[in-house]
Amino acid sequence: MKEILHFVDLRLMRCARCDQADRAPVRRAKLAERDGHVAVVLDVPMEECPACGCWLTLQVAESLDAMLSRLIASGAEASTAHWDELAPSAA
Ligand SMILES: [Zn+2]
Repeated sequence: MKEILHFVDLRLMRCARCDQADRAPVRRAKLAERDGHVAVVLDVPMEECPACGCWLTLQVAESLDAMLSRLIASGAEASTAHWDELAPSAA
C-alpha cells in the first residue's frame, strides 16, 4: 500500500515557482501566430499548476518551437498538428 501512495506523490510535484500548489501532467494545445499565419500543435505535454499556470520543460519548449516554425513555414494560412505525430519519442 505504501508503494502505491508513493507513486501518487511522484506524479503530483510541488510547484517550484510559487510553492502554493501541486503541478500535474496535462496535455494542452499551443498556438503561434506570425505574418498572418497561424500554427497550432495539439496535445503538448506540460505540467499545470492551479496557482500559477502551465509549464513546459526546456526539451518540450524547444521541440514545440521547431514544430510551430515548421508549420508556419509551410505557407498555409492555418495549420494544425498533433504533438505525438511530430515528436513520437519526445514525450
Ligand atoms: Zn505554481
